Amino acid sequence: ALPVVAIVGRPNVGKSTLFNRLVGKRIALVDDRPGVTRDRREGTGILLGTEFKVIDTAGFETDDPETLPGRMRVQTEAAVREADVALFLIDGRAGVMPLDEEVAGWLRAIDTPVIVAANKAEGSAGETGRLEAFSLGFGEPFGLSAEHGEGIVDLFEGLRPFI
Ligand code: GDP
Ligand code: MG
Repeated sequence: ALPVVAIVGRPNVGKSTLFNRLVGKRIALVDDRPGVTRDRREGTGILLGTEFKVIDTAGFETDDPETLPGRMRVQTEAAVREADVALFLIDGRAGVMPLDEEVAGWLRAIDTPVIVAANKAEGSAGETGRLEAFSLGFGEPFGLSAEHGEGIVDLFEGLRPFI
């Protein structure tokens, strides 16, 4: 079976855009509205000759299992627990938000290795947010722009030990 990379983070940070970038097909639904990915989507990524499975997740808005977002979160948590590495995405322009801290707290409590990356960092836009992301406790954050295709090879170098 292929190694699995699960993209995780709060709504609207660009998870689905990154998924599309890595998988190279418009499988995941991308929308301006936060949290629009309604279930997990899977595809195969290939970077520098290495193939891996990519999972686009949704559902870190609430942990109430009686709600749709809560059920999505249960799915997300299962996907991340089973993955070889979690790619924890934040919005480099927004910086670290309370919900990012909450996701980080959950990620610290499970066994899946985590790398953290600040998206929307085209040019030098996300540098402050990238530096803030050190505080999340997962080592040196990567900077990337999923939309513009910047930083993808460096990100892959960060993923490589786990896939
Ligand atoms: P998700 O909710 O985490 O899956 O986020 P989406 O992939 O749906 O993206 C949310 C919004 O951020 C959309 O309007 C995207 O066009 C935008 N976005 C995603 N990646 C980038 C990026 O690298 N740079 C900028 N400026 N915007 C981005
Ligand atoms: Mg999405």
